[in-house]
Amino acid sequence: MSYELNEDQLQIQDLVRRVAREKVAPRADEIDRTAEYPHDMYALLKELGLFTLPFPAEYGGTGSLLSACIAVEEFGRVCYNTGYLLVVQWIPFGAILAGGTAAQKERWLPGLASGDLRGALSLTEAQSGSDVSGIKTTARRSGDGYLLNGAKIWCTNSHIADFILVAARTVDEAGNHTGINLFIVERTTKGLTIGREEDKLGARGVPSCPLFFDDAVIPLDARLGPESGEGFKITMEALNSSRPIVAARAVGLAQGAIDHAVEFIQNRVAFGQNVSEFQGMRWMLADMVMKTEAARQLVYRTASMVDAGASGKELAKMAAMAKCYASDVAMQVATDAVQMFGAAGISSEYPINRYFRDAKVVQIIEGTNQIQRNIIADCVLGRAKSKR
Ligand SMILES: Cc1cc2nc3c(=O)[nH]c(=O)nc-3n(C[C@H](O)[C@H](O)[C@H](O)COP(=O)(O)OP(=O)(O)OC[C@H]3O[C@@H](n4cnc5c(N)ncnc54)[C@H](O)[C@@H]3O)c2cc1C
Repeated sequence: MSYELNEDQLQIQDLVRRVAREKVAPRADEIDRTAEYPHDMYALLKELGLFTLPFPAEYGGTGSLLSACIAVEEFGRVCYNTGYLLVVQWIPFGAILAGGTAAQKERWLPGLASGDLRGALSLTEAQSGSDVSGIKTTARRSGDGYLLNGAKIWCTNSHIADFILVAARTVDEAGNHTGINLFIVERTTKGLTIGREEDKLGARGVPSCPLFFDDAVIPLDARLGPESGEGFKITMEALNSSRPIVAARAVGLAQGAIDHAVEFIQNRVAFGQNVSEFQGMRWMLADMVMKTEAARQLVYRTASMVDAGASGKELAKMAAMAKCYASDVAMQVATDAVQMFGAAGISSEYPINRYFRDAKVVQIIEGTNQIQRNIIADCVLGRAKSKR
């Protein structure tokens, strides 16, 4: 399968690379340091019309996951948080596109595409992160809708989102559990409280908060798909297909760490010569570049498979490999880059420690790398698991 970039993709790469260097890079350190949501970066992405990039032309997109990966890679190279603004918007878009009714699509997708609306996804609870089946939040049928009760943690973007896709265990009027479902919950819903922002090691520019539901009233038509849980499965599969986007962010992060390391070792002098002349440094750099390129190829190939129509189990192994490998590479490359900086790598005066901290996040989010390895092994050994 070919994944050579076409003319459109090369143009996207060129545009985003230029914008990232000129407008995003100068803000990246400040966003990380202050941990304040970057409204200016959101406005920039909105102006560029990038919120619809991976989606079909009818929403103004390219219909190409590879194009989306390229854009995220270029932003991730200079500012993890700005890349995150795209990904956090694409997740609810992809979920509603895959599992929503015509009315739900009409209500939410144009706003998400233009950037006039923002969304978030909330699965994780205190006792259930990797094991989604352990969700305890309930949606109990009541009159014309549901009453939502429970608590969530780590919901990124929830402080500013217009709506949150919330996973809850549905319970019928007789008290029987009928499956896990996703609900489109407006942030202003009575009975929903957004808690205090986490003080995070990385991904600091896009806040993550706990959510508390206390008899929050949700209309029936806010449920995504049939109550049997079919909608949840469809949505989760759609989210699995978009996993290469997370992997692309890791590739960009690794490349950005290399960019900084190259500049540093070419200017730093020790024992009367540039640090870049030491064989120990040169080989370390060569390994960083090799692994990053290998990760990039894996991510591009996986995204190309999605663009060619691959889905389900056919894609699951590749998507898990891309996410796991690219984020492990990003962590390793960022760690080696810090080493190349010496003590300067530990100082907040240099940007490299930001890459190190953000890389750790990618190994954990969107299904930890242990879970990705489980998926890969299950695919190879012929078992199918539903865990993220
Ligand atoms: C910055 C950030 C943003 C996030 N944003 C969101 C968000 O927007 N929405 C949302 O719903 N969640 C979000 N999360 C939560 C994230 O999805 C979970 O943290 C993640 O799925 C892991 O769950 P956990 O933290 O409960 O770890 P656990 O599931 O408790 O895992 C703990 C450790 O055990 C390992 N482990 C667990 N099960 C297995 C297994 N079967 N085999 C081998 N090892 C295993 C894990 O890999 C991990 O190392 C975010 C997290 C972070 C850090």
